[in-house]
Amino acid sequence: MSQPSAVAGARTPAFGEAFTAHMVTARWTADRGWHAPRLRPFEQLSISPAMVGLHYGQVAFEGLKAHRGVHGSLALFRPGEHARRFQQSARRLAMPELPEELFLAAARDLVRADGDQLPADPGLSLYLRPVLFATEPCLAVRPAREYLFVLIAFVTAGFFGPRPEPVSVMVSRTHSRAVPGGTGHAKVAGNYAPAYLEQLRAEQAGCQQVVWLDAVEHRWVEELGAMNIFFVRGQGPGAQVVTPSLTGTLLPGITRDSLLTLAADLGYQPAQERVSLDQWWSECRSGVITETFACGTAAVVTPVGRVRDEQGDWTIGDGTAGPVTLALRDALVDVHTGLSADPHGWMSPA
Ligand SMILES: *Cc1c(COP(=O)(O)O)cnc(C)c1O
Repeated sequence: MSQPSAVAGARTPAFGEAFTAHMVTARWTADRGWHAPRLRPFEQLSISPAMVGLHYGQVAFEGLKAHRGVHGSLALFRPGEHARRFQQSARRLAMPELPEELFLAAARDLVRADGDQLPADPGLSLYLRPVLFATEPCLAVRPAREYLFVLIAFVTAGFFGPRPEPVSVMVSRTHSRAVPGGTGHAKVAGNYAPAYLEQLRAEQAGCQQVVWLDAVEHRWVEELGAMNIFFVRGQGPGAQVVTPSLTGTLLPGITRDSLLTLAADLGYQPAQERVSLDQWWSECRSGVITETFACGTAAVVTPVGRVRDEQGDWTIGDGTAGPVTLALRDALVDVHTGLSADPHGWMSPA
């Protein structure tokens, strides 16, 4: 999830490097369940070197944002969806699920405490990072009996200005992000480090992101780095806005879901279907696929300009951000900032 430099320039904080003044923590133990939620200063944690999360990877996280509306108030985007996905991720790793009310209260408390650190700049938002990990000091290979929930936040540049810079992407034919029966549908720490080697190889090839194919046939396009991917077929009203179906190996992105809804609102034809690498290439060549973009909470909507593959490189459209990509991005950003109505009730006042 690299953050391309934004138009805001020098004032743009780096992604996830400077945190706000507070954090929220809560504990879970087998005998007491969830307890001791509290807002406290951002500070170092004391952990055991034998902590289970460190050794065996019982670690799940989320990423959600609070946006400042045009009238100055702060609101979280779809926090209930993030709370429920956090529970699903925890369940996949045999960890206790954080109750939704506790997740929502933590997010609200942190935004109320540190919201004043978000400048009144519509290009910036407050990124909230909840993480849940096993703290029990024990090297037996079994689910831990003690966990810590931590919520921290930082200010980030949310989108890329009126003409977002398209990224180049490299198709990985040797590594896989997720396998059937694995953890691809969960936001767990163990999914990310295994992608770094290919990410570095992509950077060496002059690309910003990796295109992940399915692990069985190495044929179906699944995700783009740590983002979901969309294809646009055709142009103008009635264009088809397509994203790969959730097969269990894709992360069910909340931005993905929101864009499918907004696509329908804008009069496009949203669709979820498998798209093969061959199809992506040949439909670009024949002019059927006109645009491709990636999406996620951190990057919002990022256009894809060029694809590198060992069997040949190609350009999407004319290599610049397409009109459907920009219309969808604007529609989403306008909901975030309260510039447009919120018919789906996605914004939750902090
Ligand atoms: C977080 C994430 C996404 C995007 O999900 P959002 O809910 O839209 O932020 C997509 N793919 C992967 C692998 C992710 O980790």
